[in-house]
Amino acid sequence: MDLEKTILRKVGEAVGRFRMIRGGDRVAVAVSGGKDSMTLLESLLILEQRAPIDFTVCAFTIEQGKFLAPIQPVGEYLRARGIDWTYVQDTPSLNLLTDQPDHGCDLCSRYRRRAVYEIARRLGANVIAFGHTADDFCESFLRNAMFTGRISALPPVAWSSKREFRLIRPLVYVTEELTRAYASRAGAPVIPCGCSQKTGTVRRTLRDIFAELEKEHPFLKETLLAAMGKVDTSRLLDTRFLDLDGEAAPAQPPTDVDSADFPLISINP
Ligand code: SF4
Repeated sequence: MDLEKTILRKVGEAVGRFRMIRGGDRVAVAVSGGKDSMTLLESLLILEQRAPIDFTVCAFTIEQGKFLAPIQPVGEYLRARGIDWTYVQDTPSLNLLTDQPDHGCDLCSRYRRRAVYEIARRLGANVIAFGHTADDFCESFLRNAMFTGRISALPPVAWSSKREFRLIRPLVYVTEELTRAYASRAGAPVIPCGCSQKTGTVRRTLRDIFAELEKEHPFLKETLLAAMGKVDTSRLLDTRFLDLDGEAAPAQPPTDVDSADFPLISINP
């Protein structure tokens, strides 16, 4: 398997299907120091060169005091390759570590969101790309269904509250098996986050369940992702979508949303 080609095909599919990137965009990639965001950045840099639309890519990292090692090797790696990388120490987040050492994810992510928007604004970006993978989408889908009573996962595309930024997740179809292999082959430095090592019990259990099932069903995540794109609301329990009084027009055979609706960005090898 050509790893790079596979990842680019999947990223291109996501970018095209969800119209993540448009002509004239400036995309700021949130580099967290992990394998996923490094894979995302590399993929978008290649797309920037090969896609039939003009857009630019830059990268940034926010220091919230959670990295287990200095992030500088990531900066050296990126700058040595001529990548426009910005590093910002977020003082309010760092203060949080001493003022409220037991703060939870809500507070931490709220601080991060504010810092991300500030940096993106400074970088002149209108799009912010995050490295959530197919694994994150699948885990989030199951976690929400089983523990919050909602059928939902993550948005592949969303907008900041004032619609100032388009928020995109181009790795929606890329599994962590691929990002792990890609980052290691590229020799990219990976700086772990202390939090990712303390992955919650539910998440760990879901990962174990996936690993077990995937021994027999290797395309489990692909199937789950396909299911998220093909919702049959008439076979769920949400009354907003049910024809309780038999008033709806007779059902039409389902039509697939595919590349005919949203031309996929083609990636010339
Ligand atoms: S896992 Fe850690 S870094 Fe992530 S939001 Fe929670 S506290 Fe912040």
